[in-house]
Amino acid sequence: MNNLPTNSNNASAFDAHHPPSNEIIEKCVHCGFCLPVCPTYVLWGQEMDSPRGRIYLMKLAADGAVDMNSNWVSHFDTCLGCMACMPACPSGVDYGKLIEATRAQIERNTPRSAAEKFHRHFVLENFTRPDRLHRMRLPLLVYQKTGLQAVVRALGLLNFLPRKLQAMEALLPKLRRRETVAEVTPAVGAKRRRVGLLLGCVQREFFSQVNAATVRVLAAEGCEVVAPKAQSCCGALPAHAGEEAAAVQLAKKTIETFEQTNVDTVVTNAAGCGSSVREYGHLLRDDPLYAERARQFAAKCKDISELLAELQPRAKRQPLKLRVAFHDSCHLQHAQGVRSQPRALLSGIPGLELAEIPEAPICCGSAGIFNLVQPDAARSLGDRKAELIAPLNADVVATGNPGCILQMQSALARNNQKTPVFHFIQLLDASLLGKPIDSLRR
Ligand code: SF4
Ligand code: SF4
Repeated sequence: MNNLPTNSNNASAFDAHHPPSNEIIEKCVHCGFCLPVCPTYVLWGQEMDSPRGRIYLMKLAADGAVDMNSNWVSHFDTCLGCMACMPACPSGVDYGKLIEATRAQIERNTPRSAAEKFHRHFVLENFTRPDRLHRMRLPLLVYQKTGLQAVVRALGLLNFLPRKLQAMEALLPKLRRRETVAEVTPAVGAKRRRVGLLLGCVQREFFSQVNAATVRVLAAEGCEVVAPKAQSCCGALPAHAGEEAAAVQLAKKTIETFEQTNVDTVVTNAAGCGSSVREYGHLLRDDPLYAERARQFAAKCKDISELLAELQPRAKRQPLKLRVAFHDSCHLQHAQGVRSQPRALLSGIPGLELAEIPEAPICCGSAGIFNLVQPDAARSLGDRKAELIAPLNADVVATGNPGCILQMQSALARNNQKTPVFHFIQLLDASLLGKPIDSLRR
């Protein structure tokens, strides 16, 4: 380990507000079973960029043996927060709680350069605000529909931009007609459940077709769907980026909004949001007014694939003759433990053939805002995933998170692969509507 100076007074480098738990740190027995699934260890082979190394760095800081200097911080900035290390750990180390606490300590107690601050502020302030994302639609539409984007890309003008701006441009979604969902959509036929829908921020503005498909499928399966217009960002991005105070405020607003709805279940269709709302009990554990409400809310949250797995299928599935490569989103498979349900949902579509992508536990490089703040590592992981998809000869890639859709679309295009990427619920929706897959591209 280089350039990690000793803390002169041997006091913990962490402040007293929720430092990473010593109890969890001590559970790590240094066995290394987590190393082969850690994307950054796979890329660089460096111990300090592995889960075991990062836990050791936390221990050194907690013991006052090191300061949180820039080198120490860099090993946490490169962690994707993908949680692949958690199911791989035989000792049950809850790395998710450790990294969340460490990131909050870093953001409170260590300086960032002016450029970094500006970039993080821009991302977190805009991508958590559906109103601001909505205002970006018109300039983006002009950029895309006038052919300006194609010209800029063809002339290589983006090469003159800083890497992080290049990464942002490469990830721009192709804008489509915006579909809105009603605040209340009645069930088709006899009502089986009354469910709420978390609309997401990026999902609401740039993947509105996914929300619309989710509502149609839920209604067809006998659910009355409540999608409150007043709902705010759930706080997933700030929570994963160590901005604890902002995450707490957004979590409280989300709880308050859904408390008005009297729903049995709150459905999520963006894995990053789903993993975040399930952690509200932990996030608000100290708040006497919200702790119990947060636990109750979190207990109601389910990914769309989990809810549909619980309900006996009622709507008729029409055949879709497609070979589908299924990409597990990390925040679905590792953070929420949801792997079998989306596969079961897709397998229930007549004619659809599933293909497994090798190295399923390894992240595609999306990981919240990781591909915006660590573009080089994200690009390497995206390219690796695209190379694994190529031999599968899939017609479509399906996944369960808007961030993964953007990252995979960008990686596949960069690698000259034309395979489209959809949310898995769009495939089920197309099957229920009896529409061909091409209709999803409009
Ligand atoms: S969260 Fe992901 S990137 Fe971070 S240590 Fe665990 S496996 Fe590695
Ligand atoms: S698998 Fe668990 S116990 Fe083993 S090194 Fe990784 S975090 Fe520590």
